[in-house]
Amino acid sequence: MRRREVPESAAAPAAASGGGCAVEGCDGSPQRSQPRSRVAEALPELALEGGRRVKLCREHYRAFRRASRETRRLDRMGG
Ligand SMILES: [Zn+2]
Repeated sequence: MRRREVPESAAAPAAASGGGCAVEGCDGSPQRSQPRSRVAEALPELALEGGRRVKLCREHYRAFRRASRETRRLDRMGG
């Protein structure tokens, strides 16, 4: 069996919360805060910090907007 090598940087404590983007593992400075439920809906693959509202960095905010637009479009198509 092969073992995956884990870089040391990945083992850094992620407990340091507050100040940055609410996406786990992201260090971006927050630009916008959004309702957590919306972000979780649009980007379910992201691990978000707790709280009713989450702060997103510029990059993640863009990703969120793109994703939520797509979600809406899918919504309209009906299922
Ligand atoms: Zn981010």
